Amino acid sequence: MVIVLKKDIEKSQKENLESFLHSHDFKLNEVRGEEETVIAAVGKVKLDVSEVELIPGVQRVIPISRPYKMASREFKKENTVVEIPNSRGQVIRLGGNRIIAAAGPCAVESREQIMEVAARVAESGAVLLRSATFKPQSSPYSFKGLGEEGLKYLKEAGDKYGLPVVTEIVSESLIPLMEDYGVDVYQIGAGNMQNFDLLKKVGALGKPVILKRSYTATLEELLMSAEYLLSAGTDKVILCERGIRTFEHATRNTLDLSAVQVLRSLTHLPVIVDPSHAVGIREKIPAMGLASVASGADGLVVDVHPNPEKALSGAILSIVPEQFDKMMHDIEALAPVMGKSVYHIFTPVSAGVSGITKEGGKIQVAYSGKKGAYAEQAIGRYFDASEAEALAMDSFGEVFQAVTDGSCDYGMIPIENSLNGSVYQNYDNFSRFDDVEIVGSVTLNIRHSLLGLQDACVEDIKTVYSHPQGFGQSKKYLDQHKEWGLIDSVSTSTAAEFVASQKVKSNAAIGSIVNAQIYGLKILAEDIEDDPGNFTRFVIIASRDKARKAPVLSNIRPNMASFIFTTRNESGALYNTLGIFEKQRLNLTRLESRPIKGQLWKSWFYADVELPDSSEDVYSRAETLLGELKEKTEDVRLLGVYADGK
Ligand code: PEP
Ligand code: MN
Repeated sequence: MVIVLKKDIEKSQKENLESFLHSHDFKLNEVRGEEETVIAAVGKVKLDVSEVELIPGVQRVIPISRPYKMASREFKKENTVVEIPNSRGQVIRLGGNRIIAAAGPCAVESREQIMEVAARVAESGAVLLRSATFKPQSSPYSFKGLGEEGLKYLKEAGDKYGLPVVTEIVSESLIPLMEDYGVDVYQIGAGNMQNFDLLKKVGALGKPVILKRSYTATLEELLMSAEYLLSAGTDKVILCERGIRTFEHATRNTLDLSAVQVLRSLTHLPVIVDPSHAVGIREKIPAMGLASVASGADGLVVDVHPNPEKALSGAILSIVPEQFDKMMHDIEALAPVMGKSVYHIFTPVSAGVSGITKEGGKIQVAYSGKKGAYAEQAIGRYFDASEAEALAMDSFGEVFQAVTDGSCDYGMIPIENSLNGSVYQNYDNFSRFDDVEIVGSVTLNIRHSLLGLQDACVEDIKTVYSHPQGFGQSKKYLDQHKEWGLIDSVSTSTAAEFVASQKVKSNAAIGSIVNAQIYGLKILAEDIEDDPGNFTRFVIIASRDKARKAPVLSNIRPNMASFIFTTRNESGALYNTLGIFEKQRLNLTRLESRPIKGQLWKSWFYADVELPDSSEDVYSRAETLLGELKEKTEDVRLLGVYADGK
């Protein structure tokens, strides 16, 4: 049963409750959630719920009907986020609204092999390095792994690239050795899912564990195995769907993707998917990786080998690094649709810069709007909630100002929308604030709802408040209600806050469902945007000083440079400038022109350029480009070199 404690429970009352439960042979586990603290009591004795409810300090008691207790949703309402520290003092969070990728070869075959794979997968955005060192094999004659030597190389590779390592444990006798080498995440293989002794011993380490579903197990059986791990002492269990055995032989196993959604309602534990071991056909694996993300998985574990034909094991179920890279790029694009973002390890670019966080405190990221604004959600996607603090400002100009004068570290500003085009104000801000650079980019899928007071319905509405973009993006819906008055607000969240504070039943706001929760508003109509392909691209800005010293660089390599320039007042000036990009075969993905204030009919230009995918240093490439642009333009500034985040 789950015992919810009263907020003001006294120490003596809690001790009293615990000794009562102990006297009935219950094992107790305390979980402090955001809203309430609960004690999970697991035992064989049946106690009358109402008897426990009478004990002072107890708020209520929830009996758990399922055979697994601590793994169940009843036990814990919020999703579990498993924290995995890496060698750079950062913490990778698995679960919640992030997608993580674990990748690596089926088995460590040599130091060179694991080093090469680690470098490649880290570059593409993997955050965990997976590989077997002691391999269980169906055939006694297959490669069994390098053993201790493999552990050493695996850890060395993981440490070098900031990737915690995942390796399979096949016997409890390996625990001391694996602990010595600092295995970060233990994997219980499908074949050992019901090796209960192993589960108990590994669970007792308190470390993160990836528990793979046996190809013959039901989801309930999987959760019972998770229960073994949880009750042994770890709260960091990650479930992994990797295909089950069915009558279908076209694939290695049948990938049961509906398991992800079913598990979501049965358990609070994160769920990841291994398309490699499920599908077992190289060219079909990436598509199923994408499908896994679309099914709501928290992450992927994929076998990646640079030369699968020569692999000592797992040849057919390994994809090559190029496929992994493409899949990660596609997942990056899919993530916003799922309301998620791909988790990256942040790496300061130049040696000697210690991380990106402010001394002791969180990094401060400014945005325009009120709590719940889309820009605030973008901050939550790009940075880590535990390392960044979102600062609300009243205008985009203030965000640029705060970044310039150093009163915050970064700013998050919208730059373009897929339906509505450019956010011109921010292009103009770039020309006004000389010292601001772009260090990153993130794309958000924008979904609008009509929000009103709790007792209102659509028929009551007369006036709607929103940011002009909110109106522009919901035009078709608003056209059905031509009688409504529309009033501009600074942001959609400002509009929601205003409607909530005015308490006028005929007022409504257009904003996100996040705003409904924050301001206690009712969702009167959902997804009212004209087109589901409604994406806003935000850029992360920093002062030049900050950007150069410690850019917020993810493991995704920078692939984009932005420039602003003015051309000379002569014929062919723009043509000649653009010719520089053409000559270098660079793809210009965006060109905006904006009027220069005070200089009639003169414009300045903003340009986004794709930097080619090569090992060449993109920063020096951008600098060279800047040099050439200087020769053809009147004035030019490099706004930044960053990953496009699309
Ligand atoms: C593996 O991950 O390499 C592995 C052996 O997986 P499974 O236990 O799912 O077969
Ligand atoms: Mn494998």
